[in-house]
Amino acid sequence: MLSFFGRETFARATAPLGKALVRTGLTPDAVTLIGTAASITAAVTLFPTGHLFWGTMVIWLFVMFDMLDGAMARARGGGTKYGAVLDATCDRVADGAIFGGLAWWSVYHEHNKWLFFATLVVLVTSQVISYAKARAEASGLSADGGIIERPDRLVIVLVGAGFTGIGGHWGIEWLTWAVHVAMWILAVLSIVTVFQRVLAVRNSPGAREVIPPAAPQEAR
Ligand code: MG
Repeated sequence: MLSFFGRETFARATAPLGKALVRTGLTPDAVTLIGTAASITAAVTLFPTGHLFWGTMVIWLFVMFDMLDGAMARARGGGTKYGAVLDATCDRVADGAIFGGLAWWSVYHEHNKWLFFATLVVLVTSQVISYAKARAEASGLSADGGIIERPDRLVIVLVGAGFTGIGGHWGIEWLTWAVHVAMWILAVLSIVTVFQRVLAVRNSPGAREVIPPAAPQEAR
């Protein structure tokens, strides 16, 4: 959804920050690792203990920081394949920590089975959505698009968690439902996205050509 109005705008907006970070001597891979480690730490400490507002703020900050690795790579004249795989892998781990932290909170803090259920659906589908695309690309096919991509997922979950945190802090009861709404929207739309990606693969050129079985190896 968000990628629709934005990769180029984002690239242009972050270019000066990317250049500035390169001048500090940091590498794009280091920024990926620092951003991910900090997001994970916040997600598994602040969310499970019920600090939804501060958890959201810290995660937001470091997720944005982690998104500068691409701008840094461009400022250095290009990134590496290793950097791209590291970045994608770290994104999966960070997503796992965010939804894992919220799942923990929904069970041990809120004692809410249904919120736990929705969070588990999001935890699994967020990984499957990105796996489908990576696996398709490994077979030379494409599985782009879908309603929920990572930026959408992060905006929805963090807006929900942030408002629930504010509601809890100021005693605004109805606002504490924000994360529930966010998680159900994400759960439903993520399932839709899995189907969209599988369909995109099915419609990729050459996707349904029969692959001949490998010839038996000659005995040596
Ligand atoms: Mg990154």
